[in-house]
Amino acid sequence: MNPMGTVNPGSGNIHQRPPAPSLASSSQSSTPFLSSGPMVGSEASAFRPLAPNAPQTKRSSSSSVSVFESEVSGFKPTQTGVSNDPSMLTLPSSYPPPPAGPFQHFPSPQFSSTAQLSFQGLSAPGQPVYSSPVRPPAGQVPSPPVSLYQQPQIRSVPMGSIPQTISNVPPGMNFPPSSLDSSFPTPRPNLQPAFPSYPSNPYNAVTQPSPVQSSHFVSRQGDYGPPPTGTSSPFLAHQGGYVPPPPVAAPPGVYSREQMQHQGSGPPIGAAPGLIEDFSSLYLASVPGSIDPQIDFKALPRPLDDDLEIKNLADVYPLNCDSRYLRFTTSGIPNSQSLASRWHLPLGAIVCPLAETPDGNEVPVVNFAPTGIIRCRKCRAYVNPYVTFMDGGRKWRCNICAFLNDVPGDYFAHLDASGRRVDWNERPELKKGSVEFTAPSEYMVRPPMPPLYFFLIDVSVLAVRSGMLEVVAQTIKSCLDRLPGFPRTQIGFITFDSTIHFYNMKSSLTQPQMLVISDLDDIFVPLPDDLLVNLSESRGVVDAFLDSLSFMFQENVNVESAFGPALKAAYMVMAKLGGKLLIFQNTLPSLGVGRLRMRGDDPLVYGTEKEHALRIPEDPFYKQMAADCTKCQIAVNVYAFSDKYTDIASLGTLAKYTGGQVYFYPSFHAAIHKEKLRHELARDLTRGTAWEAVMRIRCSKGVRFTSYHGNFMLRSTDLLALPAVDCDKAYAMQLSLEETLLTTQTVYFQVALLCTSSSGERRIRVHTAAVPVVADLGEMYRQADNGAIVSLLCRLAIEKTLNYKLEEARNLVQQRIVKALREYRNLYAVQHRVVGQMIYPESLKFLPLYGLALCKSMPLRGGYADVQLDERCAAGHTMMAIPVKRLLKLLYPHLVRVDGFLIKANSKADQFNISRLPLTAESLDSKGLYIYDDGFRFIIWFGRMLSPDIVMNLLGEDCAADFSRVVLSKHDSEMSRKLMAILTKLRESDTSYYQQWHLVRQDEQPREGILFLTNLVEDTVGNMNGYMDWILQIHRQVQQNA
Ligand SMILES: [Zn+2]
Repeated sequence: MNPMGTVNPGSGNIHQRPPAPSLASSSQSSTPFLSSGPMVGSEASAFRPLAPNAPQTKRSSSSSVSVFESEVSGFKPTQTGVSNDPSMLTLPSSYPPPPAGPFQHFPSPQFSSTAQLSFQGLSAPGQPVYSSPVRPPAGQVPSPPVSLYQQPQIRSVPMGSIPQTISNVPPGMNFPPSSLDSSFPTPRPNLQPAFPSYPSNPYNAVTQPSPVQSSHFVSRQGDYGPPPTGTSSPFLAHQGGYVPPPPVAAPPGVYSREQMQHQGSGPPIGAAPGLIEDFSSLYLASVPGSIDPQIDFKALPRPLDDDLEIKNLADVYPLNCDSRYLRFTTSGIPNSQSLASRWHLPLGAIVCPLAETPDGNEVPVVNFAPTGIIRCRKCRAYVNPYVTFMDGGRKWRCNICAFLNDVPGDYFAHLDASGRRVDWNERPELKKGSVEFTAPSEYMVRPPMPPLYFFLIDVSVLAVRSGMLEVVAQTIKSCLDRLPGFPRTQIGFITFDSTIHFYNMKSSLTQPQMLVISDLDDIFVPLPDDLLVNLSESRGVVDAFLDSLSFMFQENVNVESAFGPALKAAYMVMAKLGGKLLIFQNTLPSLGVGRLRMRGDDPLVYGTEKEHALRIPEDPFYKQMAADCTKCQIAVNVYAFSDKYTDIASLGTLAKYTGGQVYFYPSFHAAIHKEKLRHELARDLTRGTAWEAVMRIRCSKGVRFTSYHGNFMLRSTDLLALPAVDCDKAYAMQLSLEETLLTTQTVYFQVALLCTSSSGERRIRVHTAAVPVVADLGEMYRQADNGAIVSLLCRLAIEKTLNYKLEEARNLVQQRIVKALREYRNLYAVQHRVVGQMIYPESLKFLPLYGLALCKSMPLRGGYADVQLDERCAAGHTMMAIPVKRLLKLLYPHLVRVDGFLIKANSKADQFNISRLPLTAESLDSKGLYIYDDGFRFIIWFGRMLSPDIVMNLLGEDCAADFSRVVLSKHDSEMSRKLMAILTKLRESDTSYYQQWHLVRQDEQPREGILFLTNLVEDTVGNMNGYMDWILQIHRQVQQNA
């Protein structure tokens, strides 16, 4: 490709442009969809434009553009792309290589003396305008904001130069030299005073277990002797240096552990044999003849097998949609409010409307044209397997609302003797719980939008030096052929540092033109028609741009970030169509609207009423931008890279309310993290995506959804606006009973996602499920879905951290579990004399452990020193959006031992199937090599006494080096190849994220503690409870008032 980082010095790249004539016209117009967004069809019928946030601009793109072109003569030539007019922005079609750095081609006098263009009137109706905070009420057309733009400045800068602007801040300002001086990737410095009580060598006292390759934990059964009296954990001896922690969220006045155990002393009385199916139990009482507690730690339940999906509902209702799309916290809906109130756990559903399906299970597409989609006239539910046909096939009864509908003539079919339509077998909508209807034109108010990807990229010095810019440019380029929606796909770019750089990508050009705007107060969009282009038409220009992008800015020393103004600019470019906005942000926004400041570095705030404010945006700009984006069908994905505070709490808001996603790469260095970024960005760009979507979930009379949790904005009480949606997003909702008593036997639920496919079809994806109504609390518990409960509980707890202290969010988790188990105990304890035992339904045997893991997860863990603020917020954003299975793995990661496999002759990575180990230091053998995999990263733990031969084979010359600086790569040895193959295999089990590896050596402190040991959720670490203490604490609380 042409080296665009060069400039032909003789070509006069900077042109002064004549002032544009002032625009007298104040014609007002509005687009057909901006006022309400493309909310279409009857799914959108309930959509109410948000009055306080009425659209800021109303414009008719066609009429306004003509105004723009005819009246702003100074601008017109640039839209033609012709290159001889001195008044236009132009680039030579080819550049010789530069003799030196690009700056010399742009002597500053050129800048200071030129490019001061007065564009009064450029903000005429054609110009998307971000208006003042005072917004007109919906329906009113704002007067043209001409006066807002008295003196905007625009500069044209040929590609290949660094936009040097007058407002440039002197190099070095706000610039962290230390992090840049080192060319070697440095370990993350950001975990602040970590675990003060962490011992330097917690393993001094560890009895080395024998190296057993698999099921190591189980093989050591019996090794656990009674713990020393008075210790708080049988493992305390192994954790010598840990300060015995106060219990997590212990309520005042609780018993000591000894008190508690004696309270329940007496011989353990097992459940009667016939009750096994009713509940499971743990013996928590003292055994006869011993004062010491005999808690069988090994017997505590652990999810070490693949998580079992709840399938029992599918047995009863085989026509239900698959649980990957829709699952309930219990598949037994309580028949009364009083029963529901005794459930205590969240009652609701998790919806993943576009969940990935195994091959061969694709959702069938049904086209009802010309009949029209069959829907209930009363409740607007879609025809589904549970509707009943009657009256010889002329009527159908809606399963949701019981209304009797007419069958349209075109859809009529006779019924057979059993009352089933004779064409039943050819009707996917009557046979399958999941179906996709082709939506006719009444479901759209504009033609289906094309897939649109817009990139807003930080090119400040940190973005360049971390290697982020180069990796992003390369990855986008490598994905261009795989972007969904060819040949309609649209693409565009803005880059920014202290100024905003637009790129004209018009297909008639051979090179993109760069336009720089440095007036951050009056953002406007130059060339509104050529900043967003059809990818296939402008492919050559886009390729040229991406090839030169990192080159162009490689000498950039700008340390500022005009992120807010740049975001507004991107919004203006995209507002007409919508689409996906991918933001790559490396520097805390420092200039213009939306600038942010350092927060969260005051430890004294933690534990006070002000603590939660750190986890929400300080500046309303971000939430307002998110609301504006949603209205214009823009979904925002935030990629944040920084080795310093970057305020994910504020940036993440953009993703939260637009159906987007937050990706966080703290202390990004391309040398170490590029594969992760490449993989995750590529997936983001190429995964199946639905556009301009809304989702609603209907349910039978008597129940209703009361709250929704995830990344979206509510358009009305029950309509979720999802500018973009993909297979990696799940949404949670809570349910309540509207009536005191349900009289029906079954409650029906129907998810309807109205969206535009990447191929440009308007579609409605419908998932329908029937759930039985139960009158018995025991049945509710039997039908409980641990994964759905944990997922919903997780979202409630994270939301709680946005308004309350972390401790209160943890309390919420604990109290819900305690209340549920207490209620359950009350069902059985007296009757079956299970004094001294902890009993729980089999379906919820892992709930306490996941509850503990949740309390120890990044969003909820500890306090100030335990998790860096940005990481906490980023993890919270992630956990609010991911599907159930991924969440469970993140909460209780997989731990496997691999050294035996590596040295075993003839073992092949594809045969690697080693059982998982409990997440406790007790599982670790200092002669072993372990992989910890939470779906987002690998931690590879090298035991202190691991064979040097293995270490040498895996790391080569690096084996003695500081592990924080070792790059794991394939070495020329069988073991190395096997290890890499194992990692690849583990990654392939779920490709939504890329597990970045971290190497940790045993006893390497504090790194081992921070990275690895704190994540062993069963252990007591710092002031966080271990599994056994947690169980005892819950048991004690369950027994109170039992
Ligand atoms: Zn109905």
